[in-house]
Amino acid sequence: MKTKILLLGAPGSGKGTQAKYLAGKYNFLHIAMGDILRQEVQDKTPLGLEAKSFMDKGALVPDEVVNNIVVNKLKSLERSPFILDGFPRTIPQAEFLEKNAIAFDCVIYFKISLESVLDRMSGRLTCPKCGASFHIKYNPPKKEGICDLCGGPLIVRDDDKPETVKRRFETYLKQTQPLLDFYQKKGIVFEVDAEQNIDDIQKMLIGVVDRK
Ligand code: ADP
Repeated sequence: MKTKILLLGAPGSGKGTQAKYLAGKYNFLHIAMGDILRQEVQDKTPLGLEAKSFMDKGALVPDEVVNNIVVNKLKSLERSPFILDGFPRTIPQAEFLEKNAIAFDCVIYFKISLESVLDRMSGRLTCPKCGASFHIKYNPPKKEGICDLCGGPLIVRDDDKPETVKRRFETYLKQTQPLLDFYQKKGIVFEVDAEQNIDDIQKMLIGVVDRK
């Protein structure tokens, strides 16, 4: 079974949706860097204020800032099975994990086109309280505007505007896609066709995680 998992893919490829599902099913520690940063922004912490200017532009928050957040989680990553979603996003971040003796046994790559990402992001609803994602068309909440998981009110994220989504996709291609090569060299990448529906992807991921 896989117990040290990274989900890699463009924003909107479905990582968060599947990470939540897998973390719940297998009781893995789930670290979603986007959720951590958005919480800091919402709480208006010094870190959040610094991060916001980058996030609003569709850029990545600098490596030192996110590495500093992860430093506090290294101990729990050593102790418990985990799924990381949104970290590492750059080669220096991946090297930072290696330097701290955190290795993955499985990197799941969500392959998707920009058109599909734009379509999904235009209907995404997010729960700021627990980080769950829903979609108006593809994954509607049971009760309109309310999170199925925690009952909190759902919102449309500031950075889900089409212009910002395009910029985030470009940032992803330039800074995050190179990680694919980095992990492919280690022979631990599983590619998933992320254009499929949520249930089919779930089934495939269970197969990957359960594999020896
Ligand atoms: P990421 O975490 O990679 O940014 P999300 O998991 O938030 O992506 O998914 C982006 C949007 O697409 C959400 O609205 C989500 O409900 C929806 N979604 C996720 N997976 C699929 C899928 N396989 N098919 C259709 N819509 C999906």
